[in-house]
Amino acid sequence: MLLKDKVALITGGAGPNGLGFATARMMAEQGARIVILDLAQADPAGAAARLGPQHIGVVADVTDKASCELAARTVLETCGRIDVLVNNAGITQPRKTVDITGADYDAVLDVSLRGTLYMSQAVLPAMRAQKGGAIVCISSVSAQRGGGILGGPHYSAAKAGVLGLARAMAREYGNDNVRINCVTPGLIATDINKGLIPADRMVGILEQIPLNRIGGPDDVAGCVVFLASDLARYCTGVTLDVNGGMLIH
Ligand code: NAD
Repeated sequence: MLLKDKVALITGGAGPNGLGFATARMMAEQGARIVILDLAQADPAGAAARLGPQHIGVVADVTDKASCELAARTVLETCGRIDVLVNNAGITQPRKTVDITGADYDAVLDVSLRGTLYMSQAVLPAMRAQKGGAIVCISSVSAQRGGGILGGPHYSAAKAGVLGLARAMAREYGNDNVRINCVTPGLIATDINKGLIPADRMVGILEQIPLNRIGGPDDVAGCVVFLASDLARYCTGVTLDVNGGMLIH
């Protein structure tokens, strides 16, 4: 068991087909007690119940600082500690540069980048006090190659911001034995892109992926579990590419 008796909080983890829920399930299999944090309409309590009675769901909006702080306090009161945070909540929008409105920019950056900052701020004091913790942030290949498949430039910017934020936090908290790392998924089949890529376009996309397939949520979850576990105890500030070789650099 890689995460025995650890408490792991996963933001945006309620969607049954998403990276967050796959990560939650795999972490639960590795012995962790799971806290699924998501918006009310995503029903995080229902998602946690699907994993088993010891797991809990918390309603919170990662774009709201007070909501993040309340969520962290609730977890600390219920579970006594927070060992792992996965900053997974994110939204995307297909947009061309000149079409990005201020509202579009706010929506996309607020969930991925502001949300990663606020949730990290909410858990870091507890991790520092317990002299240990692991934060894994979900960025994207879009941050590295300048555009993914569906997201606009503001999405690339948000996910590139996550990489910078995570690396800076990793420097700041290394001395407290808190490790902060990122994964950069390529194209993974989830609800965020379901039905949005026409078959003819998919042929071209697959030609660019040496492993010759689209990823599945478990492909990412395994790497998140690794980074959260003691197997990665000497890794901090790392960016782990999970893209089938789409971007070999
Ligand atoms: P998803 O839509 O299934 O999951 C996103 C989750 O975030 C949802 O459960 C949603 O309710 C939640 N969420 C949205 N706004 C929130 C908020 N304000 N507060 C709390 N939760 C909120 O999509 P997914 O593909 O599983 O995406 C998970 C992460 O992986 C995202 O950050 C996404 O950008 C990233 N990602 C996905 C892919 C891919 O190809 N699927 C590739 C690279 C990166």
